[in-house]
Amino acid sequence: MKVHVDQEKCQGHSRCYILAPELFDVDDLGNGFERGDGTVPEGLEDKAQLAVDNCPEFAITITTD
Ligand code: SF4
Repeated sequence: MKVHVDQEKCQGHSRCYILAPELFDVDDLGNGFERGDGTVPEGLEDKAQLAVDNCPEFAITITTD
């Protein structure tokens, strides 16, 4: 499972980072981006989904292999 932030959609609310700092970081403007290549470590799948569900811009997507 991987998460990805669409920078075109992200409006910088930092909610993803607040909810799942293990998976997301934010830049100086508060725009979120996935850590590393976005791979979700085992056990953090629920947090990934929580971030998706709480992103007001629908900017986060989850992909599975
Ligand atoms: S919650 Fe969504 S809009 Fe807000 S910083 Fe994260 S990806 Fe961007």
